[in-house]
Amino acid sequence: MKKSYLMTPGPTPVPTDVLLAGAKDVIHHRAPAFTKLLLDVTEKLKWVLQTKNTVLIINSSGTGAMESAVVNLFSPGDRVLVISTGNFGERFAKISNNYGLDVVKLEYEWGTAAVPADVERELDKDPSIKGVMVTHSETSTGVNNDIKEIARITNSHNTALIVDAISGLGASDLKTDEWGVDVVVAGSQKALMTPPGISFVSISDRAWKMVEESKLPKFYFDYKAARKMLENDSPQTPFTPAITLLVQLSSSLQMIMDDGLENLFARHAMLAKASRAAVKALGLKLLCDEKVASNSVTPILPPEGIEAGKVIKGMREDFGVTLVGGQGKLEGKIFRIGHCGYFEKLDIILTIAALEMTLKKLGYKFELGSGIKAAEEVFTL
Ligand SMILES: *Cc1c(COP(=O)(O)O)cnc(C)c1O
Repeated sequence: MKKSYLMTPGPTPVPTDVLLAGAKDVIHHRAPAFTKLLLDVTEKLKWVLQTKNTVLIINSSGTGAMESAVVNLFSPGDRVLVISTGNFGERFAKISNNYGLDVVKLEYEWGTAAVPADVERELDKDPSIKGVMVTHSETSTGVNNDIKEIARITNSHNTALIVDAISGLGASDLKTDEWGVDVVVAGSQKALMTPPGISFVSISDRAWKMVEESKLPKFYFDYKAARKMLENDSPQTPFTPAITLLVQLSSSLQMIMDDGLENLFARHAMLAKASRAAVKALGLKLLCDEKVASNSVTPILPPEGIEAGKVIKGMREDFGVTLVGGQGKLEGKIFRIGHCGYFEKLDIILTIAALEMTLKKLGYKFELGSGIKAAEEVFTL
């Protein structure tokens, strides 16, 4: 027998109530019950996105929602500034490139955050830039970018800001309307505690004007078609939606709403802080500076002479704990503990306990229990 623990930044564990919500009879998407469900989920998403903007639900993982933002807002040859602080910033650049946009890339060393003053300089220098893409929580490096300040800059330049908040939404604050973020892209399977398969996007009035002018081809991801169906007397989606996932998302968002945003962010911040404290107490290095560390995931460098892959393998095989490795140029160099979504204090304690035993088996010298102690100290502050 093996018990397993999914300690990854997506997919993440799904609460039992949410799993059971998915076991109900499938309803029909042209029936009144579906309209009720769609309106319910849309209102809840607006709450977690802190927005009054239109929110559309898309059948795809998060990357599909990223692609949808590109094809709906832009035309071939449009110049965009893509801020890249890791693998997912790179992904936005690739999608934009593949659709023939003129991509100006603002790249940062992996493990560091974007510098808003650089964004300001680029926009001052080049008024033809129509949109800026940035990652909220860069899951590959564990860095949180300063969306509030970047939004202040894009607004002062009347440029659209598109934020990939796929792992950040529901883990750290993102005030879509107050900060003035035009498009936010998010997905079901990270902090929102729902199985993978659906994503969503919020679209501001400024972004809708761009949608009207956009000339890139689109069909399945057409925002205008989706908005038309949503604004019907009996709102629906253009195509068959992932009905069961919507039922589950309604249930998970209700749990999140019952907690409140403040508690939600505070819990994530505490889990992240305890993870970092434990890792440091074990004498391991964090990939990024704690001042810019994300609430969603903690990337860690293995001890000298021990491969990251061995740590991940040991955790999985001996303890049933799933962690993830590095992506892109960090492949093989780090391992990451995910803590966005349905996680609590003891999930971190058991992960650190398994990590200690794994490291000991791999020959690393340290005092057993020192990581757990550091985490417990954070939890009992
Ligand atoms: C997970 C993730 C994605 C990609 O999402 P998929 O659901 O795998 O398509 C994109 N951006 C960020 C920041 C992510 O964490």
